[in-house]
Amino acid sequence: MISIALDGPAGAGKSTLARAVAKELSFIYVDTGALYRAVGLKFSRLGYDTELNCEIAPILENTKVDIRFIGDEQHVFLDGEDVNSLIRTPEISMMASAVSAKPDVRAFLLELQRKLAREHNVIMDGRDIGTVVLPDATLKVFVTATAETRANRRYKELADKGMTVSYDDILSDIIKRDYNDTHREVAPLKVADGGIVFDTDNLNFEEALKALLDIIHRGVEK
Ligand code: C5P
Repeated sequence: MISIALDGPAGAGKSTLARAVAKELSFIYVDTGALYRAVGLKFSRLGYDTELNCEIAPILENTKVDIRFIGDEQHVFLDGEDVNSLIRTPEISMMASAVSAKPDVRAFLLELQRKLAREHNVIMDGRDIGTVVLPDATLKVFVTATAETRANRRYKELADKGMTVSYDDILSDIIKRDYNDTHREVAPLKVADGGIVFDTDNLNFEEALKALLDIIHRGVEK
């Protein structure tokens, strides 16, 4: 099986790029952030905030997270419920970032991600795919851009969906999430050994896709 690890900070364009690459190569696109979002939703529903003042393990024992593909679209199920439409809010972004710093949560989601890569050709996007989840991935790419560029993209994405959001709030959330993701003790966000850094700052979507496909063709055919 071929596996492409696509890591990088929030809003770097990983998911849009990964979806397009998966289509082009007939791979499965796995959005691992959605798994952390589903766990974040669980804790939010239980009434916890990002402080997570609770024992994590007993809650995970009563939690089931699964991925199913409907057509080529990934759907995340939390305790049997399709929660895709509930996990993209700014509140759940922050909850996902909070739960993702917990070692128990990372261990809880690890095998599901590895199983998908054993069974399919995948392009998997996340923060620790090349470093932890798939250290033997065929190709590891680290997608990045400045916090301002990423906040702008996220702002447009949410505004297009009709959500009322403020650019300044998004930028400060992104900066907070970057800090959390790069400073946590388990599986911090960093470039994997052998990873290729891909800066999308001055590229529009078409340019970025073309550049990424070039990197993939070179890396996978090596
Ligand atoms: O990619 P997305 O923004 O949906 O991820 C939500 C949060 O989940 C991230 O801010 C990050 O804290 C966490 N995450 C992670 N490891 C991954 C994917 C996401 O820690 N592989």
